[in-house]
Amino acid sequence: MTFSELGVGAKVLQAITELGFERPMPVQEVVLPILLNEETDLIALAQTGTGKTAAFGIPTIQNLDYTNPYTEAVILSPTRELCVQIANDLTNYAKYIPSCTVVPVYGGASIEVQKKALKKGAKIIVATPGRINDLLRRKYVDLSHVRWAVLDEADEMLDMGFKDDLDFILGQTPEDKHTLLFSATMPDEVARIASNYMHNPKEVTIGVRNSGSANVRHCYYLVQAKDRYLALKRIADYYPSIYAIIFCRTRSETQEVASALIRDGYNADALHGDLSQAQRDHVMERFRCRNLQMLVATDVAARGLDVSNLTHVINYNLPDEIEQYTHRSGRTGRADKTGISIAIVNLRERHKIKAIEKIIKKKFEQVPVPTGMDVCEKQFYNLIAKVERVEVNYDEISKFVSEVVKRLEWMDKKELISRFVSLEFNRFLEYYRNSPDLNVAEKEEKAKIEKKKSKVQPNDVGMARLFFNLGYDDKILPQRLIGLINDTCNNKDIKIGKIDIMERFSYVDVDGMYANDIIEAFHGETYRRKSLIVEAANAKKAGNDKKSRRRSSKDNDIDKKTAKESRGNRKGDKKSKGNNTSDKKKKRKRGQYR
Ligand code: AMP
Repeated sequence: MTFSELGVGAKVLQAITELGFERPMPVQEVVLPILLNEETDLIALAQTGTGKTAAFGIPTIQNLDYTNPYTEAVILSPTRELCVQIANDLTNYAKYIPSCTVVPVYGGASIEVQKKALKKGAKIIVATPGRINDLLRRKYVDLSHVRWAVLDEADEMLDMGFKDDLDFILGQTPEDKHTLLFSATMPDEVARIASNYMHNPKEVTIGVRNSGSANVRHCYYLVQAKDRYLALKRIADYYPSIYAIIFCRTRSETQEVASALIRDGYNADALHGDLSQAQRDHVMERFRCRNLQMLVATDVAARGLDVSNLTHVINYNLPDEIEQYTHRSGRTGRADKTGISIAIVNLRERHKIKAIEKIIKKKFEQVPVPTGMDVCEKQFYNLIAKVERVEVNYDEISKFVSEVVKRLEWMDKKELISRFVSLEFNRFLEYYRNSPDLNVAEKEEKAKIEKKKSKVQPNDVGMARLFFNLGYDDKILPQRLIGLINDTCNNKDIKIGKIDIMERFSYVDVDGMYANDIIEAFHGETYRRKSLIVEAANAKKAGNDKKSRRRSSKDNDIDKKTAKESRGNRKGDKKSKGNNTSDKKKKRKRGQYR
């Protein structure tokens, strides 16, 4: 089908043809005929990078009434970057409809400039929830004539804590408007928004529900936690043309990994919420135009970064919320290209891979971490390929070359090549000579874990204290925790003693006889999509202390700090109650540009 067969009008057609859109992408083939032919609510499950902006943007532009001056469409998106990108795309599609004014409003930029733009008239407002909420309350925006509301990346918006903003904003729009909801995943919160605000929505799914893109290969490397950074370096060295986002869990981890890569001579930089907006824009621009090969980022900071030709997505650490993996891996394999999503995991985290496989409905391949020799070989042939491809300006260098040929006459071809190649290659040989094998010897590692598990010993009264990574933040109460233990352990009616629930974790005294069974039963389980960690409370502490003493080499610094950080979080958990709340508030306030 062509765009015009799908119902795209002449003016928009001319504009998108100039943009190089030759034929519709799958999401457009499905959505355009629906929205261009009937006024309906619609839920579309589609990954980012699939062409969904045009799928909702073209009908929005075509369906508006340009004889009145009112704002008739509002498009909400989670981040400043996405907001700007959507507004630019829509402006391009509406190039030949001059009265289609598109105004982006987003946080982290001057509100005065945005107020002025709104005053001039906005047929379509593209907004981040926080900023438009602000403008609505100050009465600079009037949504009472809106006929189309679009929620783009609805799951991300809810993830970022914009639920109340969305409720408020949608409450300002007329009841009889049409709502279009685009989301990569369909968690309960998105379903709730759909049922609260949509009327008989049509539902379309592009690709498999909640699945990873068909063009993405999912792989994981199994390493010891302390070798995570070394494994990352191996990957970077093994793929010399790598163009990747490396996802970390925290801002400090992001900064540390990026700093370590820079220190080790890689073309990398960090993107996270502790940077100023100007710094973030600068880094993103360098990455977009490929002046940067590797961008180390938090999930939130990387949202809205539109880069379509990544070779790799690397999960330096898998996300806490495993559904987030879909968003990460969906950043590669876009627009008919293939990509690789790599997870660096240790044995304890491998259950997460299984949980993610269920979500993406695809299997991960376990791939061996390249050995030092693998890297050297790859680099060697990469260098030779570069020699073959290099452009030579014979005119300009011929006079020097003649001189050099004379000087090097005493060497044969093999000697000559060896020497030139060594100039570049020696540093790899040097670094990787005697480098260790980073692949985990599974049996030994498993035995270690088993040994640790068997350390759960009952106390004098036959009870054992277990640590659960569930707390009030996870809406867990003592009864629910008891229920969860009984459910997971097949209702063995295990005796439960004292329960201490904190903000993010709990301690539970259980019948010592069953402590190991409980740990075993919870292995690989999730609660509200959170991977559960259940361990002996005392063993946990001892293990951590020992770990931090043991690690001392430079390459392990990153892991050491990360471990310290998570210990710090746990220790300060109770105290951080207030901070946590204010953090959330801050996050909401700054959400769109963290
Ligand atoms: P989106 O998912 O809307 O961010 O789109 C991903 C990329 O695909 C953007 O760079 C779009 O400009 C591009 N795109 C969207 N539709 C088409 C099309 N039909 N043909 C070629 N490129 C497209």
